[in-house]
Amino acid sequence: APPAEKFEYQAEVNRLMDLIVHSLYSNKEVFLRELVSNASDALDKLRYLSVTDPDLLKDGPELDIRIQTDKDNGIITIIDSGIGMTRQELVDSLGTIASSGTAKFLKTLKESQEANVDSNLIGQFGVGFYSAFLVSDKVAVSTKSPKSEKQYVWEAEAESNSYTIREEKDPEKLIPRGTRLTLYLKRDDKGFAHPERIQKLLKNYSQFVSFPIYTWQEKGFTKEVEVDEDPAEVKTEGDGEPKKEVKKKTKTVVEKYWDWELTNETQPIWLRTPKEVSTEEYNEFYKKTFNEYLDPLASSHFTTEGEVEFRSILYVPATKKEDITDRKTKNIRLYVKRVFISDDFDGELFPRYLSFVKGVVDSNDLPLNVSREILQESRIVRIMRKRLVRKAFDMILGISCSENRDDYEAFWENYGKFLKLGCMEDKENHKRIAPLLRFFSSQSNEELISLDEYVESMKPEQKAIYYIAGDSLSSAKNAPFLEKLNEMGYEVLLLIDPMDEVSLTNLNSYKDKSFVDISKEDLDLGTFSILGCILLCRIGSTIFIYRCSVLLVSDCGLQI
Ligand code: ADP
Ligand code: MG
Repeated sequence: APPAEKFEYQAEVNRLMDLIVHSLYSNKEVFLRELVSNASDALDKLRYLSVTDPDLLKDGPELDIRIQTDKDNGIITIIDSGIGMTRQELVDSLGTIASSGTAKFLKTLKESQEANVDSNLIGQFGVGFYSAFLVSDKVAVSTKSPKSEKQYVWEAEAESNSYTIREEKDPEKLIPRGTRLTLYLKRDDKGFAHPERIQKLLKNYSQFVSFPIYTWQEKGFTKEVEVDEDPAEVKTEGDGEPKKEVKKKTKTVVEKYWDWELTNETQPIWLRTPKEVSTEEYNEFYKKTFNEYLDPLASSHFTTEGEVEFRSILYVPATKKEDITDRKTKNIRLYVKRVFISDDFDGELFPRYLSFVKGVVDSNDLPLNVSREILQESRIVRIMRKRLVRKAFDMILGISCSENRDDYEAFWENYGKFLKLGCMEDKENHKRIAPLLRFFSSQSNEELISLDEYVESMKPEQKAIYYIAGDSLSSAKNAPFLEKLNEMGYEVLLLIDPMDEVSLTNLNSYKDKSFVDISKEDLDLGTFSILGCILLCRIGSTIFIYRCSVLLVSDCGLQI
């Protein structure tokens, strides 16, 4: 056999491994979640490609994950019939850091060390393949890609900065397609190599994997067997010959054997009836699918019928998304007839300014080989997008109507900027965005108010929604123009975020009230009153004339 070739890891990999082993020490069991999710990703990729190239499945149509344990030797084997890796892919995928999940982990780890967050939090992140070394002294990845004639073995030991790659020669380990991962457990971790232990972890960590996961289980069944009883000599009638009669009796024995047992429920959660899914299940699904560690602020599970049919679960995360320009966030996972298609969109399925909303969408109406071009031009996608947006706004409105004011404050703090962006980018939805906006006000103490609250407390004669922009709350409050309006009892919105004013300008008006900047020179609070007065004079209603003239006097006073 050709000798194994030795490779050095990219420097970041060494650092990552070091961090993983030292930071996740109390959370070792995440290794199984990571490796199963890689197997599931590999199956997703194969299933997706096989739509256009059915030949890929010629070596076996089954798409599944099989986990076998050898408790005597402390070995766990995880086999998937997924896409596998070529020799080059082994080098690229397992010798360098390519995944965004892992990069996110590194970033969080850095932040959390500063903020001293406990390692439980970190354990929730996708740390990827290298988590295998949390429990293993040695890891072997034997893998066969449909693109390659040969099967290759990647092998490495923990605490080493190199790995080897060689061709698989062991006939027992040859597989038609996919990946066979062998973990040689550390002495103290051999306890993981028990079927019950693995089953328990799978229930906990992998209940949302949509491929069957089989575990190798010892089974037993009871069987009634007939056994001989002591032979007794019995006289029989007839010719008098004594006959030996053997009496039979039945006994129950347990017969043991090993077999694969299906360990997970493979129906995707979004196909279930909403009434039958608990909040905990929705939250768990969210955390597992999007590598989040906090429960979402809200979720919405719905089916649409009619013109276009699809099912979806949307979530508003509780974690802050800092970068509003980062739009390719893999926030929406698109499935067609349960086949995962892509999570790499740029505004096709969901407007960019709503990219903080996460979720899954499963459609029966799109072709399985849907491409980005199709997505951009599809009428179906346009309808889906419209409905998704509507549902997203309903969900956000739900948070704002919640009894708990803190929820919406948290939401606004995290995602207010995105909605302001929506004022600029999505005219069509102004009606949905506007009620969700929040501003500081001259009449509330540091508390944010909505435009509805503003309109409700408008003076009867007040015509417009007044605002003033400033660098800070105190500078806005001290603006010279504000005093006049305070005296009149008019509330003024204090815009201290540069995006505030732009969004109001884009909205133009709210409930037929236009937005007026009180610092503008031509601010004329009296004009309308005078006009109104003249009009009313003509109508001849003395009460109103009286009211208007009072106003007129005060307005004139102000204008001097
Ligand atoms: P991520 O899954 O976030 O990409 P990982 O560290 O878990 O990061 O895995 C790194 C890469 O290794 C994957 O992106 C994939 O290309 C490859 N890989 C890992 N496990 C498998 C597998 N079972 N089958 C095929 N490819 C795999
Ligand atoms: Mg992974």
